[in-house]
Amino acid sequence: MSNTATELKLVDLGKTRGTDRKPAVRKELQSQLDYIRQSKVDHIYSPAVNKIYDLAMSYVEDAEKHANNGGRAAWTMGLWDCPFIYALDIVPISFTELGRLGSSDALTIAEDYFQFPKETCSMVGALLGEWFLRRDTTVRELVVFNASCEPLNMGYELIAAEGYNVYRYESVNHPRSKDSARLEQQIRFLTEELEDLAIRLTGKPVDLGRLNAEIDRANRVLAKVREIFDLRRNNPLYIKSLATMFLLMGSSHYFGKPEEYEATLELLIEELKTAEFIPSPKGKIVPLAWIGGRGQEFGVYKTIDDCGGAILSWSTPNSWTHDLPKLDNPLASIATHILGKTGGHIIGSPVLRLKYLEDIIRSFDSKGILFYSYVGCSFAGIHQEIQRDHFQKLGIPSISLEGTFQVGPPSGQLLTRIRAFVEMLT
Ligand code: SF4
Repeated sequence: MSNTATELKLVDLGKTRGTDRKPAVRKELQSQLDYIRQSKVDHIYSPAVNKIYDLAMSYVEDAEKHANNGGRAAWTMGLWDCPFIYALDIVPISFTELGRLGSSDALTIAEDYFQFPKETCSMVGALLGEWFLRRDTTVRELVVFNASCEPLNMGYELIAAEGYNVYRYESVNHPRSKDSARLEQQIRFLTEELEDLAIRLTGKPVDLGRLNAEIDRANRVLAKVREIFDLRRNNPLYIKSLATMFLLMGSSHYFGKPEEYEATLELLIEELKTAEFIPSPKGKIVPLAWIGGRGQEFGVYKTIDDCGGAILSWSTPNSWTHDLPKLDNPLASIATHILGKTGGHIIGSPVLRLKYLEDIIRSFDSKGILFYSYVGCSFAGIHQEIQRDHFQKLGIPSISLEGTFQVGPPSGQLLTRIRAFVEMLT
């Protein structure tokens, strides 16, 4: 996928600054790439936002080239695992990218070849099908944290049988009890799992000095992301919702190019400090919270912006609110971060996240919550049930959205529900 200037010559929606911005009629957007191209045009005033999209669009291809040219890359979660993976001299390729890049053929492969039932979560089918379709062209290494559901665990086994090297490491959960000895024991266990994983991946222990440097980089990047989110409060649509989601995803894996990504954040901070205000097509902007998966149906984000909303409070698997702790053993820093001992709970009961979610919702004064999950995910269903109930009691309205992981436009029904929800809050 190229990211040439010609892409910016797509449909110019009129003036992008000032209150005279005119909505224009445009053709229906169908694919994820359509939405990205259109969003690049919508952000024509921002070289930094366009650069984030350029980094995203060249990410997988460039990581694969890096591996073909003698470097190393591996498919990974692309989250808090990234400082560790980079410290092993491996470029992490995030699983999430497969949803954006995939085709509907992937689900056909999952059902017909792997015999997954139709009701299986689309994320499992899309990942498995895409890895199968790309088996002769992509990197055949997967680094997998055993924190997922059984269908995905099963998928990893099936793809290993197709010639992929699957490196798994065990998961633990932050205990609900206040038993600190138990938590410390789990941190030790996870630390040892990471030690062992480094040896299985590279034949030697991870370089702790390098890992410390990667943790410092991750914390520098997170501080910049927080500064951007803070500046964005006063100009939410300068970085629209889809672009913000990409910015957030990059905060973990840097799209395989750490220096370029960090420089882009600095550019964005400078832009935001002097940017003209970007008005909403509806006049007033309703601040919203997004809790759940990183939606692959990009029309959802566009619809939110178009009908007067702006997502300011983000809670996705990309944890951005808290730094990784600096401990004597950097592997323990990562384990501690995963288990949320120092805030921003990542792995564990959804009940442990309620206070954290309240804080980010209050901090951005969000008026409503969009819960997002993939059809067929029973985990997310339970999490949402608990969280919805909690926020209902606090008087914060919410809506539960279920989407799919593979490419294609969102359903009209989904978009109608979003419009109705945002209009209700206006
Ligand atoms: S979204 Fe839920 S069901 Fe689907 S792969 Fe993730 S955890 Fe499993």
